[in-house]
Amino acid sequence: MRCTNCNLGNYRPKKVPYVFLGEKMGIFAALVCHHCGETLFESSASDKIEAEVKRRGLWGLRARTKVSEVGNALDVRIPKALAQFLSLKKGQEVILEPVDKNKLQILVE
Ligand SMILES: [Zn+2]
Repeated sequence: MRCTNCNLGNYRPKKVPYVFLGEKMGIFAALVCHHCGETLFESSASDKIEAEVKRRGLWGLRARTKVSEVGNALDVRIPKALAQFLSLKKGQEVILEPVDKNKLQILVE
């Protein structure tokens, strides 16, 4: 099957490690383009990956939150599951770093 990403290589079956949020979820069956490395996980592998991500409590950490106003500063609430994943505690200092006009990165030290 021709690669849909580069249109030059062909997919070959391969066992590929899957990393989610910096943690290794395991090794899964995939099709990998020998030219550009584009990786497609087979649907059975995708189901196993999703189950493993959920088992480790890493599912749904991306969250929508609202900006509120506290005094003359703005306040962003971090959902509990995300705070736990980052081992973030009340009173802890973090660094706010704008990446561009639409992206704010919070560095936990
Ligand atoms: Zn390719």
